[in-house]
Amino acid sequence: MDIRIKGFIESSCSDWPGQVVAVIFLPGCNFRCPYCHNYPLVLNPDEGETFTLEYVFQRLAALRSWLDGVCVSGGEPTLSAGLAALCGKIKEAGLLCKLDTNGSRPQVLQELLARDLIDFIAMDVKAPLLADSYERCAGVKVDLAAIGKSMEIIRNAGIAYQFRTTYHPALLSESELEALALLFSQDEKPLLQKACPSGALSLDFRRHEDITAQQYQEVTVMMQRLLKKSSKG
Ligand code: SF4
Repeated sequence: MDIRIKGFIESSCSDWPGQVVAVIFLPGCNFRCPYCHNYPLVLNPDEGETFTLEYVFQRLAALRSWLDGVCVSGGEPTLSAGLAALCGKIKEAGLLCKLDTNGSRPQVLQELLARDLIDFIAMDVKAPLLADSYERCAGVKVDLAAIGKSMEIIRNAGIAYQFRTTYHPALLSESELEALALLFSQDEKPLLQKACPSGALSLDFRRHEDITAQQYQEVTVMMQRLLKKSSKG
């Protein structure tokens, strides 16, 4: 199997609501989000420890009685050629399979879903689907048609999913947040996560202050208000 596992957490209760999962990290990413905290995997995908498949699946077997599933994260996992084979092996082990993705490769999502290899997808929607906003938040030019296609595929997949956005006022203005909110329906419960400047990928972004509790509360309430008006999703 053509896969390199660059990180392995044996159990997490925060990656999939209501499930206890192991987390596998695959290297490399086609984005350079300023707030990224997994950037060693992104910038230096060949460095660091590599976990063998044998080791990871031995551990998963040993933990099987209390694990519900495995979250495949990164980096951007859809860049790894062996992703489908890895997900298949997770399912063969009797475990649920969750995928974290930036949504840039809809054709890979389509293939995984067609083969019934994924039970839950969490997709980052970095910004409203506007070229400048997305480039600022992803750190590279992004094919917005691919992002929109991934959202459509996920919505029609018939599995659980979550859209999530990492927010900081230095990256998204209030009007951009409003445009973002209109991408989602209230039922989808999109997640707004706080971007943490300390230790982030971008040296420029590191200079910003953390978002305050009050700022976070205000933008969360604003998002909720706009979601109620939204009919999409
Ligand atoms: S999509 Fe962004 S946050 Fe996620 S791994 Fe890539 S650079 Fe980091």
